[in-house]
Amino acid sequence: MKTFRKFLLPLSLACTFSAFAVDNEQELPTQTLFRNVNIFNGVDNKLYQNHYVLVEKNIIKQVSATEIQGHKNVVVIDGAGRTLMPGLIDAHVHLNLQNLDNPAAIDGVSNMTWEEIGALAYDAAQEYLYSGFTTVRDLCGMHDGMRKHIEAGTLIGPRIYLAGACISQTSGHGDWRTNAQALGDDGNKNGQVQKLGISTLADGADEVLKACRNSLAGGADFCKMMAGGGVTSMRDPIHSIQGTMDELRAMTTATKQWDTIGAVHAYHDDSVNRALDAGVMSIEHGNLMTEKSTFKNVKKKGAYLVPAMAGFSNQLLKHPQYGNPDLPLKAKVEQIIKNYENWIALANATDINIGYGTDVVVSSKLASRGIRDFQMGQFVEGFGNYKTLVYMTSNNGKLMALTGKNNPYPSKLGVIEEGAYADIILVDGNPLKDLSVLGASFDMWATPREERTIKTIPFVMKDGKIVYNKL
Ligand SMILES: [Zn+2]
Repeated sequence: MKTFRKFLLPLSLACTFSAFAVDNEQELPTQTLFRNVNIFNGVDNKLYQNHYVLVEKNIIKQVSATEIQGHKNVVVIDGAGRTLMPGLIDAHVHLNLQNLDNPAAIDGVSNMTWEEIGALAYDAAQEYLYSGFTTVRDLCGMHDGMRKHIEAGTLIGPRIYLAGACISQTSGHGDWRTNAQALGDDGNKNGQVQKLGISTLADGADEVLKACRNSLAGGADFCKMMAGGGVTSMRDPIHSIQGTMDELRAMTTATKQWDTIGAVHAYHDDSVNRALDAGVMSIEHGNLMTEKSTFKNVKKKGAYLVPAMAGFSNQLLKHPQYGNPDLPLKAKVEQIIKNYENWIALANATDINIGYGTDVVVSSKLASRGIRDFQMGQFVEGFGNYKTLVYMTSNNGKLMALTGKNNPYPSKLGVIEEGAYADIILVDGNPLKDLSVLGASFDMWATPREERTIKTIPFVMKDGKIVYNKL
């Protein structure tokens, strides 16, 4: 578009006045006017009835209770009393760790080529966008290849924030080498997931510094490191501490110099507090935090906690992997489930910054969908409709903005207000009363949705452009 205009300019200068006037008319910025909508603005616990919203190019230009006029070419959308709200944001996704019906989880990904991984990642990206998630944040393995093409308009997808390769110590949550590869110890070279740049092994501050810088070089907006044991990984016990203080600080030093943040995978008090002390601002999981002081520390530091809520549910034990008594995963999940009541009471009482993230990883397409919808139900059960909505919109918008001068999308996200990005969905019904209108489900194993769209979200706009319109 920009190149095209460069060539047009000298031509229009050479034109007659009347021809120039026609040219000017064509230069009117694209406008979309929503009328007859009730607004959830991402912040307030209410719907603003019968409002108007004017979008110009990719930005919300005006929000008003009284009628707005656009220019003569404005596209008018009559919301017919639907809810207009910010496009949703998922702060913890894994686009490059999708799977077919392969029960081998990470091993399944290890056996794929980039062609398969890329195709499935693109399919997953679309799945988010068409169900109303206009922004996602990838926590392991995305570099800016797909995003570049989405931004250029050659592919259709959500906005993507990305961490590049996730950084793990040898034997940590991101060490997905086979035992044969690990015993051969050829470092990063012989694990397929490492070779593909999805996860990277780093031991010692120098290697962590380099790993984070490599991610930044690949277009990452922030870095992510494993700071403690994980559930899906077979090799590391959930109680393990991962990363020395020097290694954690190496990551936050590299990210601070880019004016952005470090994120960690961490479940329990020790690993969370160590990461906070090292200046980490985004704690992924935290589901085994037991002490009020840890929650208060998250709050004091102004950090965000992004819990994967499905891990707290007994329903996860029906999963062929997580419920298998022969695998270490089952005992890990049971420990997390036991901590739920104490955890949710402390999270609500300390009123910490929570980000909404679903962490759907290595599941088949339909199972991913079922778990994703169930996560929303779990957030509703733990925090109620209003808070869940705030987490999915304005809170996550603030979390994305912590990428500072490195932020690929510097205007506001997750709110309906003047100057914010025009990422907008229309919803049949009032999500403050019923979140099933955004897809929330309370049964992880309900017949999964076959369609990527949600009937009660008939309209999705991203960056001022209509992605989906069934009005
Ligand atoms: Zn994750």
